[in-house]
Amino acid sequence: MAHEVRRVCVIGAGIVGVCAASWLQRDGHKVSIIEAAEPGRGASYGNAGALNASSVTPVAMPGMLWNVPRWLFDPLGPLSLRWRYLPVIPPWLVRFVRAGTPEKVRAQARALRPLVGATLEALFPLARDAGAEDLIHRLGHLYVYRTRQGPERERLAWELRRANGVEVDAFDADGLRQLEPALSRDYVCGLLVRENGHVSNPLALVQRLLAQVLRRGGEIVHARARGFRLDGRRLVAVHTDRGEIAADAAVICAGAWSKPLARALGERIPLETERGYHLMIRDPEITPRIPTADAEGKFVATPMDEGLRFAGTVELAGLEAPPDWRRARVLLEQGRRMLPGLAAEHPEERLSVWMGHRPSLPDSLPVIGPSAASPDVVHAYGHGHVGLTAAPMTGKIVADLVAGRPPSIPIAAFAPTRFA
Ligand SMILES: Cc1cc2nc3c(=O)[nH]c(=O)nc-3n(C[C@H](O)[C@H](O)[C@H](O)COP(=O)(O)OP(=O)(O)OC[C@H]3O[C@@H](n4cnc5c(N)ncnc54)[C@H](O)[C@@H]3O)c2cc1C
Repeated sequence: MAHEVRRVCVIGAGIVGVCAASWLQRDGHKVSIIEAAEPGRGASYGNAGALNASSVTPVAMPGMLWNVPRWLFDPLGPLSLRWRYLPVIPPWLVRFVRAGTPEKVRAQARALRPLVGATLEALFPLARDAGAEDLIHRLGHLYVYRTRQGPERERLAWELRRANGVEVDAFDADGLRQLEPALSRDYVCGLLVRENGHVSNPLALVQRLLAQVLRRGGEIVHARARGFRLDGRRLVAVHTDRGEIAADAAVICAGAWSKPLARALGERIPLETERGYHLMIRDPEITPRIPTADAEGKFVATPMDEGLRFAGTVELAGLEAPPDWRRARVLLEQGRRMLPGLAAEHPEERLSVWMGHRPSLPDSLPVIGPSAASPDVVHAYGHGHVGLTAAPMTGKIVADLVAGRPPSIPIAAFAPTRFA
């Protein structure tokens, strides 16, 4: 171990925080995780569980601008914008639309591939130590279409995946039937990415990784981080609502709530939240074997340990607005159309709904890198739709930065200063 052993505060016990803590401990650091709520109950709780190494396509794609009016008038569509949030969101939306040029999306995809592509390789050692291997599966991810023109309409997205080394197998209607007999016969074609994996209980993954961090001598501090005490450019302590915690280094992994912490360092990061929903059916009559995305409906059906989860949708409404549960119920209607073997009615006690806050930057890339105010504070948030997938590699990069090693993948595209 050539580097100095440091007291590191990791702010946030979501999947990014626990992966960062796990990698930091492997370098011998003394790790304290500061968590304001219950570990793993943020966005990391209810996601679709996909560990999609192929997730290189940004959300803002060319031509997106023309969709904005439709989002405003269809509150239950796959992407919606609440009227009440309209005074707040324009600066982010402008950056979002501007990020969707053909050249920019190509650069974003190139930057994302090494971060997400190595997800299983970076997660397996942590999962093995934490006794969480049974939660991780490698069955691929299937994208299905109701129209033959569907893949063609998403040509750029598939081109970006292929250009970045993602291998794809195409299935016609008969092939789909054999691969996933549970699927509706309305689907006429599909594309399978075999290298992808999934987590069958995302909360349990965070909890087991955290338990391992604690077994290795880490601690969890139940407090809300508020800011940092610096001596010149050196970190002295992290401020919390329960007092100061002395630290030589800190990592901001507070997901969608990271913005005020960056602000406390004098940095303005255009972090927003893309809210998403899930609906789960306990003891479903039928379930797909492979996580399956209805590519046109923009939702995913994932077989989970505790039932069948339909997840997706994007709602721009900020951190405070109450959930619009109709958006989760729509997922149930869509799910029943995807899997006609599901009952037409389910008793309420077998259904559960959830809303979570994806931490999102307008260019669909996270912020990973040292703070401009202090080399001792590292930003690691804003992973949007791919945070579960990108967390293991993000944790590794964080450990490299804290140790003063060059990261194993290029991170210039994730620089916190790119919005200045
Ligand atoms: C519907 C939906 C489906 C998704 N599906 C997928 C998927 O299939 N695959 C994928 O890769 N990604 C998916 N995502 C995205 C993924 O869930 C997120 O990107 C990821 O969970 C973000 O993790 P995080 O650790 O940054 O944030 P979080 O899990 O939100 O954790 C942040 C933690 O920080 C704590 N915190 C906040 N502020 C403070 C503070 N000041 N002090 C201390 N603690 C603080 C919070 O309490 C929280 O526990 C999905 C998201 C949604 C909503």
